[in-house]
Amino acid sequence: MSVTAEAGSATFQSLNPATGEVVAEHPVHDEKAVAETVARAREAALWWGGLSWKERKLAILNIKGALTRNLDRMAEVIHQETGKPVQDAQLETVMAITHLDWAARNAQKVLGPHRVFPGMMAINLQAVLEYQPLGVVGVIGPWNYPIFTPMGSIAYALAAGNAVVFKPSEYTPGVGTLLEELVREVIPDHPVFQVVTGLGPTGGALAASPDVDKIAFTGSTRTAKKVMAACAQNLTPMVAECGGKDALIVDSDADLDAAANAAIWGAMSNAGQTCIGVERIYVVDSAYDAFLGKLTGKAKDLKPGFEANSTYGPITMPGQLEIIERHIKDALERGGQAVVGGADSVKGPYVEPVVLTDVPDDSSAVCEETFGPTITVHKVRDMEEALQKANKTAYGLAGTIFSGSKTRAMDAARRLRSGMTSINTFAGFVTVGALPFGGVGDSGFGRIHGADGLREFARPKAIARQRFAPPLDLLTFDRTEQTMQRVLGLVKFLHGRKY
Ligand code: NAD
Repeated sequence: MSVTAEAGSATFQSLNPATGEVVAEHPVHDEKAVAETVARAREAALWWGGLSWKERKLAILNIKGALTRNLDRMAEVIHQETGKPVQDAQLETVMAITHLDWAARNAQKVLGPHRVFPGMMAINLQAVLEYQPLGVVGVIGPWNYPIFTPMGSIAYALAAGNAVVFKPSEYTPGVGTLLEELVREVIPDHPVFQVVTGLGPTGGALAASPDVDKIAFTGSTRTAKKVMAACAQNLTPMVAECGGKDALIVDSDADLDAAANAAIWGAMSNAGQTCIGVERIYVVDSAYDAFLGKLTGKAKDLKPGFEANSTYGPITMPGQLEIIERHIKDALERGGQAVVGGADSVKGPYVEPVVLTDVPDDSSAVCEETFGPTITVHKVRDMEEALQKANKTAYGLAGTIFSGSKTRAMDAARRLRSGMTSINTFAGFVTVGALPFGGVGDSGFGRIHGADGLREFARPKAIARQRFAPPLDLLTFDRTEQTMQRVLGLVKFLHGRKY
């Protein structure tokens, strides 16, 4: 990625990180352009929010159809812009399609008007709860899963009745503009989904816009803080989907082949550039040697490259190479062992697999997000120690448990301090439309996906309609002493007993 600015108009080029070739040139949208886009979105939101649930559902299902028919085209753009293998690009597009489908089919059920029980004291009322669109949602996305990740906000925000302005990463702008083209084919007359391209300041302008009703940000924790500061100017709420340092725990009775398989995919696929990627593994003592043997055997088979048979691609963002190398060197200098690869595995733009053991708990390879195909493996006494160490991080996005015991696995899954846990498989939750996605601590707040993801982009509206005059009316200056005494008697009867 490089930026060229000419008099009055600025553009930037997206580059293929494997070959350095220019993929395409895009405009840098400035504050004025962002404001104009948001103004158009406001108009479109009025129309879109006024459609029936069924009309919106059909439109989103048609967007899904257009994306599915253009799946190979989308995957090729992702492949060119990120360098990841075509199949991985196809896979993330498939996952994005499943979320479009879920959001479209479940929006009315989750957000549409429904009656709630008013309670004995308000039995004369009909109580209705419904969720109304916010208006315009700004989505700021990362490059590592450039269609799947933002789709978690885009699909759910659209399904909730909002117009969306999407600012894709400067490394993957073409994914955004292709998606915009596909949505426009389905909805040509109203810009319910628009894209603004550019670098950080373009995202900054979107976050600071007084006309945006919510920001859905996915990216690093560092940038999330800047976005939150920009949002604060207008009290704009935000969802923050940030980084992680996820752990995988291997119990003594786990299926070690399955655990090693999941661990290697979770750590190394997409060159480790996965927010919910496995970065630390804690293995119970008795399983440690056998597990490590299986893991290292698999790691040695991996071949990074841009060719069709490569297992993973390059490091998309050149600056990340220095971070990965620093983490490996720090681990080795502080007593860690490289059982696969080492500091010389960093051969930009590729990083060969690195498996580290005996790495101190306070080293950067254990505490900071590495975002590369490296992993630290730690021997622990038991599941208690595994959980204690896994939870000793400021992050808390997801995690994985491998255990032969359902009871122990469920207990550990609940106690892992994270928004999502997968048992006996890696990242099982990502394709389940009904499950919410999001983190705790430095991994962010708010949820995409599932019913919670739909509600994230809507405001609850409470309506209480009086059906008949209350038998005991308290909300009047005509209230009598007798009415009050009756109500107090009723309250004592209903709520005064001991349980
Ligand atoms: P990043 O924070 O560098 O950039 C994310 C987006 O923010 C980009 O579009 C960028 O242009 C924009 N941006 C930069 N500065 C901005 C500013 N001041 N105001 C507004 N927008 C600004 O992150 P990245 O390198 O693109 O993505 C990698 C990070 O994203 C990793 O930390 C990864 O863990 C995280 N991630 C999280 C999830 C999740 O769901 N939790 C998913 C994917 C990636």
